[in-house]
Amino acid sequence: MQKKESKEKVENEKEKLLLHACCAVCAAHPFDLLNENFDTTIYFFNPNIYPEKEYLIRRDELINYCEQNEYKYIVEEYEHDRWLEYIKGFESEPEKGARCDKCFDFRLLKTAQKANSLGIKNFTTTLTVSPHKISKNVFASGQKAAQLYGLNFLEYDFKKQDGFLKTMQIAKKNAFYRQQYCGCEFSIRKIEN
Ligand code: SF4
Repeated sequence: MQKKESKEKVENEKEKLLLHACCAVCAAHPFDLLNENFDTTIYFFNPNIYPEKEYLIRRDELINYCEQNEYKYIVEEYEHDRWLEYIKGFESEPEKGARCDKCFDFRLLKTAQKANSLGIKNFTTTLTVSPHKISKNVFASGQKAAQLYGLNFLEYDFKKQDGFLKTMQIAKKNAFYRQQYCGCEFSIRKIEN
């Protein structure tokens, strides 16, 4: 009993952090790392994902993972039309280009807004797990959002120090669904071409 109470005390003493997560595959390793030092809540806001069927598969996989492990999580509405409006004019940009930078902006601005509304001072994202994302561009979006709300964006490059390898190992162990494309309809076209 005393052990449980002191564990709860340690949890309460940790600073809070909101972790934007794009899917269960990318969330598991960053969560393990961060939760050692932060009271971490996973935040699913990914209106970039298309079609809705694919969105629901990724969302529900993450929800199941959080519930099985008793992790705190928040899921937002699917606002794909708003996302399309935001990236308008950049549809034919290549992956890793300007459309992706806007996509990071869109998701991290909302994450910062949510953190701010919850009184959470720290936030970061799992987006740097992927070797297909330019981490410095993810950091630039995070810092812009942090500045707007007076928060701390933590610059973790989760693919480093074998992070990507560990991510793949956890995905295999948990038999996570593995998507075949980044998320939006424009990234599907790229694979088909
Ligand atoms: S390819 Fe991925 S990061 Fe780039 S715009 Fe599409 S969903 Fe967003």
